[in-house]
Amino acid sequence: MKIYNTLSRKKEEFRPIKDGALSMYVCGPTVYNLIHIGNARPMIVFDTFRRYMTHRGYDVNYVSNFTDVDDKIIAKANEEGVSSDEISERYIAECKKDMEGLNVLPATVHPRATQEIGGMIELISDLIEKGYAYKAEDGTVYFRTRKSKDYGKLSHKNIEDLEAGHGREIKVKGDDGKEDYLDFVLWKPKKEGEPFWPSPWCDGRPGWHTECCVMAKKYLGATIDIHAGGEDLIFPHHENEIAQSEAANGVPFANYWMHNGFLNIDGEKMSKSLNNFFTVRDISEKYDLQVLRFFMLSAHYRSPLNFSAELMEAAKAGLERIKTAASKLDFLLKTAADGEPSAEKAEEIKEFTRRFDEAMDDDLNTADAVSVVFELVKFINTTADENSSKGYLKALKEELLSLSDVLGLIVEEKEELLDADIEALINERQEARKSKNFARADEIRDQLLKKGIILEDTRQGVKWKRKD
Ligand code: AMP
Ligand code: ZN
Repeated sequence: MKIYNTLSRKKEEFRPIKDGALSMYVCGPTVYNLIHIGNARPMIVFDTFRRYMTHRGYDVNYVSNFTDVDDKIIAKANEEGVSSDEISERYIAECKKDMEGLNVLPATVHPRATQEIGGMIELISDLIEKGYAYKAEDGTVYFRTRKSKDYGKLSHKNIEDLEAGHGREIKVKGDDGKEDYLDFVLWKPKKEGEPFWPSPWCDGRPGWHTECCVMAKKYLGATIDIHAGGEDLIFPHHENEIAQSEAANGVPFANYWMHNGFLNIDGEKMSKSLNNFFTVRDISEKYDLQVLRFFMLSAHYRSPLNFSAELMEAAKAGLERIKTAASKLDFLLKTAADGEPSAEKAEEIKEFTRRFDEAMDDDLNTADAVSVVFELVKFINTTADENSSKGYLKALKEELLSLSDVLGLIVEEKEELLDADIEALINERQEARKSKNFARADEIRDQLLKKGIILEDTRQGVKWKRKD
């Protein structure tokens, strides 16, 4: 597997720290609103990377955080007159719903910044002890950027470039208690009405870069295989994560750094601040979210991707072609005669996996991998018919489902429950409740919910409807 490593700016052969295992940290969203489809890009591409590595036999430990303490969350809480916790809880739940719709697997762990403050205080204390950080008069703790010996190695910036940029800024902003304008905040004092935690320096809260260092180390170790996120995070976020982690731990923070390109709209980065965004929820009103996933995977993850109605329509049609091939196989399988494909045919089918893997091994080239899936669809359409044996059709179907599954695409139509089946399950649930078997009753409710059937207990008995 070759991965483009932002550190070396080269494609490198992936060598895990531990044979057969992969530790990966992906910076997650700041939860103050519904996520937009730009935020969904790293979720989809790195989920696909994770699925692929699992398919290649790696035991993947995948950690992705929720940033649940931040100026934007506080601003939103004040606007609504509720607590920051209420805002972050709400949008974590909403984000999880969107992830489910996008078929993004839950991370092995989803740590939250507010639950890891103790670890952050430890890290900052350690950095102060080692001379890498200092407390200013107002209680703010800063990192001594210039002391970090290879600062800029990820973003390929040198201190002189940074000085030129910051020199202008400092004249406008004035001195704010830093020894050096290149220094960045590790801990900041509370302001009126903000959430805060006690610390040896002042009541306050951690800076954003500190969070990810602490959570990555706690759940994955001091050196991890891969750290990932959108390319806007390279500087300063990831550069500052490296500076802190490596100063404290004395070992490399991550061996590979992967960054996805921007999702653009009219050639401009989609973002909350530019107000040029669509939320995942907006898209779900018009499309099955599988279409959005497929649209994202049709491009290479490092290329910029422009969102447009035409490309979404093309993605919808493409996904439909794959689904049609899957249902054609199901249809043929109902009446196919027993029999196995010849060794040659079986080999021909397996060749699609080989070519798919080859594309994915080249720095996760999902665009080429999708082309291989389309070739398989064409192969199905031209070779599967009423005369095909059951074994042959099954092998084709397994191949199609296995490749789609690595991409996280659901291509089998959900089997619809017939009204009579629903009624029977509802009766069984009533019986279960009568005999106080509430576990079974809940299980039936959940099973129906998964199929899009919503139950409502009314005085007139149980009513049900299909979710549209
Ligand atoms: P944020 O909540 O802004 O910290 O973003 C969460 C994740 O989404 C980060 O990995 C960002 O790099 C990524 N991201 C935000 N906007 C875009 C965009 N327009 N295209 C691609 N990735 C983005
Ligand atoms: Zn991060």
